[in-house]
Amino acid sequence: MKKNVQVVIIGAGQAGMAIGYYLKQQGESFILLDSSKRIGDSWRRRYESLVLFTPRGYSSLPGLPMKGSAEGFPTKDEVADYLEQYATHFQLPVQLNTYVKSLKKITNQFQLKTSQGTIIADQVVVASGAFQQPYIPPIVKSKNPETELFQVHSSSYQSPAQIPRGSTLVIGGGNSGAQIAVELVEDREVTIATNHPFHFLPLHFLGKSIFFWLERLGLLYAGINTLKGKWFRKRNDPIFGSDLKKLLAEEKVKLRPKVRQVIGNEVIFEDHSSERYDNIIWSTGFTPSYEWIEIEGALSDKGVPLHERGISPIKGLYYMGLPWQYQRGSALLCGVGRDAEYLAPYILHQNEHSDLN
Ligand SMILES: Cc1cc2nc3c(=O)[nH]c(=O)nc-3n(C[C@H](O)[C@H](O)[C@H](O)COP(=O)(O)OP(=O)(O)OC[C@H]3O[C@@H](n4cnc5c(N)ncnc54)[C@H](O)[C@@H]3O)c2cc1C
Repeated sequence: MKKNVQVVIIGAGQAGMAIGYYLKQQGESFILLDSSKRIGDSWRRRYESLVLFTPRGYSSLPGLPMKGSAEGFPTKDEVADYLEQYATHFQLPVQLNTYVKSLKKITNQFQLKTSQGTIIADQVVVASGAFQQPYIPPIVKSKNPETELFQVHSSSYQSPAQIPRGSTLVIGGGNSGAQIAVELVEDREVTIATNHPFHFLPLHFLGKSIFFWLERLGLLYAGINTLKGKWFRKRNDPIFGSDLKKLLAEEKVKLRPKVRQVIGNEVIFEDHSSERYDNIIWSTGFTPSYEWIEIEGALSDKGVPLHERGISPIKGLYYMGLPWQYQRGSALLCGVGRDAEYLAPYILHQNEHSDLN
């Protein structure tokens, strides 16, 4: 069975919701498709102790502030529930349990093959999330059957109970790695390996959230091509909060440089030192996963979306929620609405234009 829709948004996470909000305001006909069983599941699936580094005041989407103290930090389940409430509040048309297997362009329209049948759309917004495909660098050389190294990517990490006892190496110096190291050190020996120096930012400064100051300094939403934006982008993402900083200073968490190789339980570092570990948590980030977009010219050779401020070179195809799509906040709850506000009129214009044909 084929269904015709004016605009399809792939992904009903915060990026999909934000563009849905503006399309609804414009009176557009659209649908949000999501493979999950429940809105907010990409947040629910994350590790149990995850508390956001953005306070509620900087974790809300356009038009509906998150309930609770604006200065307080929401849990991941709170955000998941908030997204669900958001869809209900604005009556956004979400179709769950619908996995988009492929996206093709057929003459002037798009064909989406989904787990629930084929959909033909005039325009498509890809809001499928930048953190879907876990990345583990190809440095694990061999698996020695004599040894039993336990390995897990941070996206599959849930809680300390899941990790066997023993020395644990967290590889990767981002916010997830930092939070996981802090949590695990309570009952085991923990080392964190990073390929760049840590920059810590406190969650609060002079009684205000650090996001207030980042906004004030014009950094949070600075455009990618502005001087401030370029400067901010060049820096490695800061670690929000000082728990890890304190534990490193007290040498409760050990610090190691970049990992070169993992052979059985032995880890070889860039400085040629080596050590044996029982467990490894790979907090090494994610890779783009857009291979289902079967449209020539939509992706780079490396499979990365080609776009300018979310507008792809393919007429009628857009992206939302990409890291640094236009500003640091593009892939954050506080900034995604700005990109959506910019994109929505383009979609309207395109729809009006096709109505004339
Ligand atoms: C550990 C962690 C902590 C973070 N902490 C913060 C924080 O404190 N503050 C903050 O602002 N941001 C934070 N972020 C960043 C960001 O806000 C989240 O990653 C957020 O989930 C991104 O929203 P999204 O809508 O772009 O993607 P997602 O939340 O991943 O949503 C995408 C949706 O698309 C669906 N989908 C994907 N592919 C398909 C397909 N082919 N067919 C149908 N559906 C599909 C998925 O099921 C999913 O529901 C954090 C990220 C991580 C990983």
